[in-house]
Amino acid sequence: MLKIYNTLARKKEEFKSINPGKVGMYNCGPTVYDFAHIGNLKTYIATDVLRRYLEYSGYEVRQIMNITDVGHLTNDDTNQADTGEDKMMKGALREKKTPQEIAEFYTEKFFGDLERLNIEKAAYYPRATAHVAQMIKMTEALIEKGLAYEVNGNVFYSVEKFPQYGKLSGIKLDELKAGARLEEHPDKKHPYDFSLWLKAPKEHILKWESPWSLGYPGWHIECSAMSIEYLGETMDIHTGGEDHIFPHHENEIAQSEGYTGKEFARYWMHTRFLLVDGQKMSKSKGNFYALKDILAKGYDPMHFRLFAMSGLYRTQVSFSWTALDQAKTNLEKIANFERTLGEIAAGGKAAEAPQDEPVDFAYIYLKRFEEAMDDDLNTPLALSVLYELITETNKLIAAGKIGSAEAKVILSVWNKMNRVFGLVLTEGIGEVSQEAVAVAEERKAARIGKDFQKSDELRDKLGLLGYSIEDLPDNEYKLRKK
Ligand code: AMP
Ligand code: ZN
Repeated sequence: MLKIYNTLARKKEEFKSINPGKVGMYNCGPTVYDFAHIGNLKTYIATDVLRRYLEYSGYEVRQIMNITDVGHLTNDDTNQADTGEDKMMKGALREKKTPQEIAEFYTEKFFGDLERLNIEKAAYYPRATAHVAQMIKMTEALIEKGLAYEVNGNVFYSVEKFPQYGKLSGIKLDELKAGARLEEHPDKKHPYDFSLWLKAPKEHILKWESPWSLGYPGWHIECSAMSIEYLGETMDIHTGGEDHIFPHHENEIAQSEGYTGKEFARYWMHTRFLLVDGQKMSKSKGNFYALKDILAKGYDPMHFRLFAMSGLYRTQVSFSWTALDQAKTNLEKIANFERTLGEIAAGGKAAEAPQDEPVDFAYIYLKRFEEAMDDDLNTPLALSVLYELITETNKLIAAGKIGSAEAKVILSVWNKMNRVFGLVLTEGIGEVSQEAVAVAEERKAARIGKDFQKSDELRDKLGLLGYSIEDLPDNEYKLRKK
């Protein structure tokens, strides 16, 4: 029986779906103004493992992930969503493109990352810009119910009108000291009131007609409107990163439950952040990586996938090249295990030594794997069960106790586990040498310095080492074993 940690209940709870055998799940998706970073991707890998394990457990999962292509303001962590920078506008100005072009470009890059990481496709990826009508309708209803108010073309949600405000994050409105680090907004009745609609300044590119002003929707209303549209008024599971608990998800609850009068989501799951060498990832610290930056160093997307699953989704995990190398070594071990068993299974021979192990011994490991996953998706424990199975299998192979029949049983157990791990073990796994990476890095430096002759020589050198190199934008590259 699957137990998951429900942020709303502040404890692990047995998972029961609303409709037997079916799960409706909503994942807060990316704001598509730049490449997703590996922290974002850790969160989506965790969600994918959840989806896969629900499917493994027999559920049919309807998964919806939004694409935020309307700029929301960067100062949204303190409910000050009416101040700060607009991310989509920022991307547009940086690259001298329209917000629509920026959204299209980075949405495609995001889907590319998901595919490379073998993340299963959601049923639908609704775009915020295509659902403004639903957001306006919901905002109108909230005003009618007295939960929201309009001032100067802006509409705010009145948090004091929703008695359960704070139930997810534990924030208490009456304990909030007026003015405590919150900028007072002249139009707001309470500093924690948040915007449902904002009047657009002249220079704002993305704007829509509404009953209140030519403007644009607040960020939070996007997820309420789109999840209700595609999953109905109550869903089973809602996910996001830890930064979403407050204000984003608290506000989603206020909007949705205020609107429908029903419970919005049964289970709230939040992934903790990925840190880099123990620090927050940021461009200024130079420790900010997209998936392409990792691939350019010769790693396979599966190395990152395995790294991400090696920590609990609910603990902060620190990324380092050493940790990624460890995942690379482990993936090689798994790939060898699969290859060796495949060869023995195909060989069709019986075991050499007398059989004193039951042929289905591997199912004991499968049971332990399921127990680990049932306990709030404990992937590190589930992986350790796999590594034990590999060690045990290697011992039995060495003792001549694994013939074709045994190999097939172990392979079928591994394949079951891997429906959840989602690791793709291609031929090239683990085959890029450090020497090749060093040459490729030297070539990258030559290309940045526009020394194309040297760059060509180094390409030839890579060829001699047995590698081909594909150039990617921004002087990045992908190394492949020929
Ligand atoms: P964003 O595109 O900023 O809306 O973020 C997309 C998803 O990634 C959200 O669920 C965030 O909570 C999550 N996220 C952001 N930063 C990190 C991080 N460093 N580690 C893990 N998840 C993150
Ligand atoms: Zn959301």
